[in-house]
Amino acid sequence: ETTPAPNFIRNQVLDEIEGGQVTKIVTRFPPEPNGFLHIGHAKSICLNFGLAEQMGGECHLRFDDTNPTKEEQAYIDAIKEDVNWLGFEWAGQVRFASDYFDQLYAWAQHLIREGKAYVDDLTPDQIREYRGTLTEPGQPSPYRERSAEENLDLLERMRQGEFGESEKVLRAKIDMASPNINLRDPILYRIRHASHHQTGDKWKIYPSYDFTHGQSDAIEGVTHSICTLEFEDHRPLYEWFLNNLPVPAKPRQIEFARLNLNYTLTSKRKLKMLVDEQIVDGWDDPRMPTISGMRRRGYTPASIRKFCDMIGVTRADGGLVDIAMLTHAIRSDLEDNAQRAMCVLKPLKVVLTNVPEGHEEEYDVLGHPARDDMPARKVPLTREIYIDQDDFMEDAPKKFFRLAPGKEVRLRNSYVIRCDEVIKNAAGEVTELHCSVDFDTLGKNPEGRKVKGVIHWVSVDHGIPLEVRLYDNLFMVEQPDRDKDVDFLDHLNPESLTVCQAIGEPSLADAGPEARYQFERVGYFCADRHVSTPDHLVFNRTVGLKDSWAK
Ligand code: ATP
Ligand code: MG
Ligand code: MG
Repeated sequence: ETTPAPNFIRNQVLDEIEGGQVTKIVTRFPPEPNGFLHIGHAKSICLNFGLAEQMGGECHLRFDDTNPTKEEQAYIDAIKEDVNWLGFEWAGQVRFASDYFDQLYAWAQHLIREGKAYVDDLTPDQIREYRGTLTEPGQPSPYRERSAEENLDLLERMRQGEFGESEKVLRAKIDMASPNINLRDPILYRIRHASHHQTGDKWKIYPSYDFTHGQSDAIEGVTHSICTLEFEDHRPLYEWFLNNLPVPAKPRQIEFARLNLNYTLTSKRKLKMLVDEQIVDGWDDPRMPTISGMRRRGYTPASIRKFCDMIGVTRADGGLVDIAMLTHAIRSDLEDNAQRAMCVLKPLKVVLTNVPEGHEEEYDVLGHPARDDMPARKVPLTREIYIDQDDFMEDAPKKFFRLAPGKEVRLRNSYVIRCDEVIKNAAGEVTELHCSVDFDTLGKNPEGRKVKGVIHWVSVDHGIPLEVRLYDNLFMVEQPDRDKDVDFLDHLNPESLTVCQAIGEPSLADAGPEARYQFERVGYFCADRHVSTPDHLVFNRTVGLKDSWAK
């Protein structure tokens, strides 16, 4: 474990601990179960769970489940799995904002009794109109002065399901002229005749995010309620509720800048559209920036945590993080930890004409050049091998150090070979090469000449077929959703997935789900955790070899 990077929140908490204002911190990660978690959520998870871990505190997992029509049990399950996979554990049971619905209802009644909340019959459109704008104060609703008795009665009847969905809402009575629009009598409860994944049909009214969040924090004894900057304007309201209700604690809201990553969307709503329109193969499609998609792609928990450490936590909004930083984090992890293997993506057959039929030799090759704890591999050579089509050129330029007619190249871990003859089909395409081996070059340089190129290869007899999926960015532009007038789907990369029928070295037959490899000279790959089987191995390209991240 490396020491965590300092950031303003961490520093603040350290000061508070030193100054004795807090003894034990409690944070929470509060996803709404309306989709899968994405890389932006990973930033929040690492911050909230990381802070608790580093400060000897605790972090809760709380589902912010106030929107029953958009939420599902399947999302709850996926979110829990993602948090655990990242290596974090929540303190105690999983919590739900809906656990507090009874308490929230009692607090709504309390506000009514205090003359600080009222039932409003305006329609949603009228409410918007009356609310005013940044430059214009709002107007009071004609229902604002209802008596506490009437309000209590109406709220109870709303709860019983007596009214239709947009007929009534409960609002706080704060200040219709406040410069902060969030304080212009915000909505506390809406009528929804929807059944809820946790509370079933018990409720016909559901509390708003604002009325739920801070009070849930208070009930749980959260000390630091960390959220993204969009909620900065809501902080006065967050505090208003805490100051006007008999809550057991006074948590503090602290905002930080959300993560935006180029060539990527970090919005559950938009990612859901990709899933619903079947543009991707589900939430965990390896092209998705979801945690489960990245997992399937071959990202490790350590690499995602490393990335979150690298980007840091600030209040500076609007920055766009280069996805090259994310790929750098996984590439350096895999460079150190992935097994090596040879795999030919676009096979071209080579006959080694001076290797007798039936001859076989086998090399013991390191699993990783710097890791003697990794098992060695047996790599067999036979008369017929495959090389990659890209490693041969018929009319090669001078600087082409791979194979060309009359030229020599070294087979990785084996001999130097020379290309003597190029075999073509009727259409003039190269179908096979005839080469000869210089048997005096195993583990040593050839006499009197330099052979620069080294290429990977696989024995035809022993190679195993693999389906290899090459992934590229889903979007062709850095900010697919920047322009509000253009559909982000117009920026989809039509070549975000290319499938190859590849041939891999025999050691790959052992690849279990999620086994990670460097295919030498090709890139980093991971056996698909869902569809790869011993009879039909499927590998996802996690990332290429070349690092383009400039520090
Ligand atoms: P989305 O817009 O993708 O649905 P959200 O904020 O509505 O995101 P929540 O489920 O409410 O999703 O998010 C849970 C937590 O994750 C919140 O505290 C939120 O601030 C944080 N979070 C969401 N997106 C990001 C992001 N891009 N960067 C950092 N934190 C994020
Ligand atoms: Mg949301
Ligand atoms: Mg949210």
